[in-house]
Amino acid sequence: MKKGVLNKAVRLLYPARCPGCDDILPGASGMGVFCESCRGEVVLAHDRICFRCGKPIISAVDDLCRDCKSKEPAIVMGRGAFVYTGPMKLAMYRLKYSGRRSYVRGLARIAYTLHHKWLDSLGIQAVIPIPMYENKKRQRGYNQAEVFAEAISVYLSVPVYPKVLRRVRNTAPQKGLDRQMRQKNLENAFKIAQSGVKFDCVLLVDDIYTTGATINEAARVLGEGFGCRVFSFCICMGAD
Ligand SMILES: [Zn+2]
Ligand SMILES: [Zn+2]
Repeated sequence: MKKGVLNKAVRLLYPARCPGCDDILPGASGMGVFCESCRGEVVLAHDRICFRCGKPIISAVDDLCRDCKSKEPAIVMGRGAFVYTGPMKLAMYRLKYSGRRSYVRGLARIAYTLHHKWLDSLGIQAVIPIPMYENKKRQRGYNQAEVFAEAISVYLSVPVYPKVLRRVRNTAPQKGLDRQMRQKNLENAFKIAQSGVKFDCVLLVDDIYTTGATINEAARVLGEGFGCRVFSFCICMGAD
């Protein structure tokens, strides 16, 4: 009885919201992650994706995206759940800038459901979020990549290591930079900051994968530091 009342109070104070439009979802949580109108517009990243990084590709003949064709990525392989378009663009914006970390639970459930066979087959020993610059994280109150990493780690039964990688430079946002500038912007941005750990196989996690510059720079640092295989998993994948 008491627990029921408490749950009801929590729902009134923090109602479940559709990540696509931020509207309050009817009924208790568990009714679905998106509202009906957003559900029709959300595109999953599972058909026609780059075999290597998991990015949606338009070409009917290629197995690889333009980035993976032009440069060998540092990740062994990557996957993501949603195409970064339509309502998911707004969802990612609010997740970052309007405190809507509550979206992550539902999004992680869809993401894991979509790619569980692949994820479960990798032999992952650690889930590592792309770190935020410490001051920035303090201002925002959380790192959305870390929140997603925590949600995915529950499904994988593998611990999260949020302190293995550290962002040592406050890099400019990647958005709006071209491919070359993105790469330059990330030079020496990450370093390994935790000693006494050893991994053979890790899952690097972030909110959005576009050119893959961030993920691949972090994967390079992890690969050099641990000699481990690095796979990646993101909420959203930008189209090729
Ligand atoms: Zn909606
Ligand atoms: Zn690719």
